[in-house]
Amino acid sequence: MSMIIEVQHIPIEGKTLAYVREAGELPVLRELAESGECRFVGPLTIVLTVVPERTLIKVSGSIDAVIEQSCSRCLNDYRSDLQQRFTLRFSRDTAEHDEREEKELELTEEHIGLTIFKGEAIDFTDSVQEQVVLALPYKPLCREDCKGLCLRCGIDLNVAQCGCAQGGKSSPFDVLKGRAWPTDKQGKG
Ligand SMILES: [Zn+2]
Ligand SMILES: [Zn+2]
Repeated sequence: MSMIIEVQHIPIEGKTLAYVREAGELPVLRELAESGECRFVGPLTIVLTVVPERTLIKVSGSIDAVIEQSCSRCLNDYRSDLQQRFTLRFSRDTAEHDEREEKELELTEEHIGLTIFKGEAIDFTDSVQEQVVLALPYKPLCREDCKGLCLRCGIDLNVAQCGCAQGGKSSPFDVLKGRAWPTDKQGKG
């Protein structure tokens, strides 16, 4: 079930690995599904191209899946394609320094976007799970212009209209709601 490559088995021209995984096989994704934040419809397709790059190992990857989430405006469940493309660089943890040095080294390496691996093999499980989490929308929307629910009567404004907006007391400031104000940037334009 693991997604591991032994470093010595990576040819100089690189190697492409393809995996099909159920979300239930990956702990972080299983948790997302169980919490209801994101359900996975069918398996994830994971393709990783692993290429040596000087002392580093470069990984270009793609993750594809169909997911189901609840719209943050209208609360309806909807399906969408999750398509994550990414590039990661892995660096071997050189264990020939004392603990303090190691900490500092790790900080520097992580600071410049490297992922550290130990030993002779790289396990991609954590990176894959992290990329899926990064791909999830912060505010899921069934569609960009989802009208959401009426705040007064709760009707789904995508499928029906209610009289709340007309019947209610309107304020002259309502028209200003939702308008994007120009930001006051001096010295530019
Ligand atoms: Zn919606
Ligand atoms: Zn209403």
